[in-house]
Amino acid sequence: MSRDGRNRTRTYAAGALALLAFATACGDNGGGGGLAAPAATTPVSAAPRPSGAAPTGAAATPGAAPAAANAAAWAKWNLTPLAPAPAPPADKPIKLERTGPVPVFSDVKTNDKVVFITIDDGAEKDPKFVEMLTDLKVPISMFLTRDIIKNDYAYFKPLQALGNHVQNHTVDHPVMSKIPAEKQKSEICDAQSALTQQYGTAPLLFRPPFGDGANTPMLNTSVQQCGPRAIVLWRESMQIHDMQYQSGDKLKPGDIVLAHFRGPKELKGSTMTQMFGELLARIQEQGFSVARLEDYIQAPAS
Ligand SMILES: [Zn+2]
Repeated sequence: MSRDGRNRTRTYAAGALALLAFATACGDNGGGGGLAAPAATTPVSAAPRPSGAAPTGAAATPGAAPAAANAAAWAKWNLTPLAPAPAPPADKPIKLERTGPVPVFSDVKTNDKVVFITIDDGAEKDPKFVEMLTDLKVPISMFLTRDIIKNDYAYFKPLQALGNHVQNHTVDHPVMSKIPAEKQKSEICDAQSALTQQYGTAPLLFRPPFGDGANTPMLNTSVQQCGPRAIVLWRESMQIHDMQYQSGDKLKPGDIVLAHFRGPKELKGSTMTQMFGELLARIQEQGFSVARLEDYIQAPAS
């Protein structure tokens, strides 16, 4: 079940390892697992890193009261504030069309030193995470799976109220390339209507479980029939303490990072907020800020 033991590594190799890293991402929740890869990375001893600790050297500007309040909010979570993201571009790097094939992307073309955090599935519903995001106001995008969240749609509403968008991640997390077109359509369309009804706005983006089938014409057609106007993949996936990189070993401007709503059972005892704190520290130590993915995307003209 858990693959995180070997995931606490850095994947330095490109090529095959990157493909395996891609295949394992997003694979722990909701079954399927048809694309689960065998252990591929060699564990390396990571530098000791206290849980949730942030690197030094990125302290908030002292003096101003808002900065001090902000620093206090971050300190509550044993973090130092991330540099604020630049203002979103007026001319969006990604422009979506109202009809026709949907684009597939795993990063956004930008020179801004920002990455985008996406959080998937929705299994763990930790109230502390809502508190954390309320304090830190780090933007996320939520790709939610209907049957994983339907017992508690309300959990995600305060996260949405912070400005975070809800996006489509199917009804029950199947391997899309293994199901026929009609089933693909119901997986996407039924999730689309449930999420629209619950959250009051129609998801603009779709992510297939495991990233599977993203580039197939069949899945593209199924997405087109249900409303989302883009298929969104990722460049890095957060595990417990570190990220797995699809290629290389560092973040690049505009990368989309995958994480999951997971709790101690999936995280070897770590909590959702500990995992998220470590994710922010990994982003910070590479000199990046976190921006909102939807601020870099132009929705179709209606
Ligand atoms: Zn997923």
